[in-house]
Amino acid sequence: MDKAIGRVEDALELFYQAITQLKREAGDLRLEVQRLEKENKWLREQLPGTPATPVPFKEGQDALARLYYEGFHICHLQYGNLRTEGDCLFCISLLKK
Ligand SMILES: [Zn+2]
Repeated sequence: MDKAIGRVEDALELFYQAITQLKREAGDLRLEVQRLEKENKWLREQLPGTPATPVPFKEGQDALARLYYEGFHICHLQYGNLRTEGDCLFCISLLKK
């Protein structure tokens, strides 16, 4: 009887570990989907069908600012990554130029 209970406990423990792992992976995937959705949206907005002319400086700055406020890093350290911890001082210093 004790043996059987022990086996059930072991099984539950494994089951619990598997659930925990799945939850973690689901969380990671959700973040990745969010990041990709934002990135995709932003990229689509950059496709007005205009020919590849150089972007005027002001417009380039605006695009960077937009990207930043949509939640992405624009600094060289983490360019294109989702900002998960609020404002980034490196990005902000770029926006103030
Ligand atoms: Zn940054």
